[in-house]
Amino acid sequence: MEALSSMYSAAWGTISCLFRSGSPIACKASPLQGETKSSRECGPRGNRKHDRSSCPTGSRVTEEGEYKLILQENLGAVLSLDPTQDVSGGLREDEQTPQRLRLILVGKSGSGKSATGNSILGRKEFESKLSARPVTQEVQRGRRAWAGRELEVIDTPDILSPGAAPQVANQGICEAIACSSPGPHAVLLVIQLGSFTEEDQNVVLRLQEVFGKGVMAHTILVFTRKEDLDGGSLGEYLRETDNRKLAKLDLNCERRHCGFNNKAEGAEQEAQLKELMVEIDAVLWENGGHYYSNKAYHYSQQNI
Ligand code: GDP
Ligand code: MG
Repeated sequence: MEALSSMYSAAWGTISCLFRSGSPIACKASPLQGETKSSRECGPRGNRKHDRSSCPTGSRVTEEGEYKLILQENLGAVLSLDPTQDVSGGLREDEQTPQRLRLILVGKSGSGKSATGNSILGRKEFESKLSARPVTQEVQRGRRAWAGRELEVIDTPDILSPGAAPQVANQGICEAIACSSPGPHAVLLVIQLGSFTEEDQNVVLRLQEVFGKGVMAHTILVFTRKEDLDGGSLGEYLRETDNRKLAKLDLNCERRHCGFNNKAEGAEQEAQLKELMVEIDAVLWENGGHYYSNKAYHYSQQNI
C-alpha cells in the first residue's frame, strides 16, 4: 500500500511538474553534428522549431488561473494513473530497429552514471567526480552518432535514492520522464562493481515504483570500475557472487549486463560501447523494437 501511494505521488509529482506555470521542463542538451543551438534547446520532445523559452511545456500554461483549471480538469485522470502499467505494447516505432535510441542512466549517487555517460558519448559531456555530495544536480542529455545510429544519453541526478529530498527527487523524476519521452529504449542501471549495497537495492525498488515493474524488461546492469576485475569475467563474477540480491537482480534482468572502465580511452572505450550495444540490441529484440512507456509517459506526452 505504501509502495502504491508513493507510485501515485511520483506520478502526481511528474504530472504537476509538467503543468507548472512558467517553468519549462527542459534538460541541457548537446548538439549532434549539423544541429543548431536553437534546434536543441527545447524540452522533452525537442520541438525543433522553437527555442527553450517557447518549449511546449512552458507555453502550455501561462496564467495561474489557467494552470489551476487544467489541473482540476485532469485530476481524475491523474488519480487513476497507474505507473506500473506498461502500455508500450501499443507503441511501435516505424522500424523494428530504431535508429534513434534513448538511453537513460540511473543508479545511486557516485556509482558512475555521469562517467559512464561520458564513456558512451566519447567525450566529457557530464561533470563526474568523487564527492561526498551528489555532483549532478539536473537531468542532462548528450548525443552522438554511432554506427549509423543516434544515441541520446540521459544522465540523471539522485532521483531514486530514498534519502533524496522528495521535492528534488520529484522534480528530477519529472525531468527524467520529460527528457526521455516518449520513453527510453534502455535503462542503464549503473552499479559500482564490488559494492552492491542496500542503497543500490533501494534504488532498484524505487525504479520499479516510479517507472513500473515492466521497466526491468528494458534494464541493463552497467558495472563501473570494470578494471577491478583485472581481466576476469564479469559474467563469472556475477554467477559466483555470494550477494544474493545482486545475483537475483542479474537474473531478473535476464543476465543483461556489461562492464565499464570509465578511465579507459580510445579502442578500449570503443570496445566497451560495442559490448553495451550488444546488450541494447538484445533489449530491443526482446521488446520487438519498442521503447518502454507507461501511463505516466503517455500522460506527459499528451500534455507537452
Ligand atoms: P554519479 O554520481 O553516479 O554520476 O558518479 P560519477 O560519474 O560522478 O562518478 C563518481 C566517481 O567515480 C568519480 O570520481 C569517477 O571518476 C569515478 N568512476 C566512475 N566510473 C569509474 C570507473 O569505471 N573506474 C574508476 N576507476 N573510477 C570510476
Ligand atoms: Mg552524476
